[in-house]
Amino acid sequence: MNKSPQALYIHIPFCNVICGYCSFTRFGYQEKLADHYLERLIEDLARVKEVETIYIGGGTPTALTLSQLDRLLSAISPLIKNAQEITIEANPDSLTDDKIDCLIQHGVNRVSLGVQTTDNQMLKCIGRTHSFEKVIDRVLALRTKDLPNITMDLMYGLPNQTLEDVINDLDKLLELKPVHLSLYALTIDENTAFFNRNIKAAPSELETQMYLEILKRLTTAGYQHYEIANFALEGYESLHNKHYWQYDDFYGVGVGASGKEQHVRYTNTVKLDQYLKKETQFHERIELTKADEMFETLMMGLRTQQGVSKDKFYNTFNCDLSIYQDKFAPFLKQGLLIEDKSSLYASEKGRLMLNDVLIALL
Ligand code: SF4
Repeated sequence: MNKSPQALYIHIPFCNVICGYCSFTRFGYQEKLADHYLERLIEDLARVKEVETIYIGGGTPTALTLSQLDRLLSAISPLIKNAQEITIEANPDSLTDDKIDCLIQHGVNRVSLGVQTTDNQMLKCIGRTHSFEKVIDRVLALRTKDLPNITMDLMYGLPNQTLEDVINDLDKLLELKPVHLSLYALTIDENTAFFNRNIKAAPSELETQMYLEILKRLTTAGYQHYEIANFALEGYESLHNKHYWQYDDFYGVGVGASGKEQHVRYTNTVKLDQYLKKETQFHERIELTKADEMFETLMMGLRTQQGVSKDKFYNTFNCDLSIYQDKFAPFLKQGLLIEDKSSLYASEKGRLMLNDVLIALL
């Protein structure tokens, strides 16, 4: 019998303010709409079995009122009896003391704080409402209330940002000693306010310089670069994301949420009215072939420091990783991929060029 997914992603699509670069599934917060959404979401959660990890993302989950947050977390309590990690994304501005108490009371043990940059002018420019002083204040509040497992999101390649600005961000963030950091380069998609206003991200050469500087500074500071965009102090790697990178099944619940179950990858409808009225279930639904799954296992696994386990690959697909030997060979020779007895993984340089490697493996 197939084991049910051990990871659950829940999407809360509401934000108090919409950032200029945002292309996620998100809508302006309205209390009644959020009430209606939670009702519908809780119906969807009925099919979910107990899981090891939960990630509540958005949108901005902390845009919900205290009672809405309490309602959501009460609804997931039957699923988390044996959960190891329950993460919630939080905006420093809307993470009030009483919401922190509510998270702790319901067993949330990890908070992902959307910091983005420590430069208050830049925060305004990208449409964020918080200040870096607010970030410091909320980190102290979380630690005082005994919720110290805090990961911070930082963006780089922002409009007119210099390498020195990124170094300054890192210096200030490291003073706060976060246990985990996720770093994202700004991308400007069509249909975003930035795209319409012709605002540009940093040129790709500068973006690469920034990434290399981040890598150098964080690894020197003792962080493990355990996945392309993620850095952690020992013991603080994200257990939930590991499920994605190990290509495990996971539930995706809520408007626009993605999941993978029983050889099907899906994204729920991204239209809020369709989701609420149960008109359309999926935005996309793809039946995965064995070849798709083998390739995607490589694609996800090579993002990580650990790489792809040869035994797990064989046990899952009943075929050896060496079937890709001809395609791997040039990258092994160039030192972009490395093979040892138990796994295949990408070197730091290989991870930087992972797209090129994967295209060749297709
Ligand atoms: S807070 Fe996040 S989800 Fe909301 S608008 Fe900004 S980037 Fe988008």
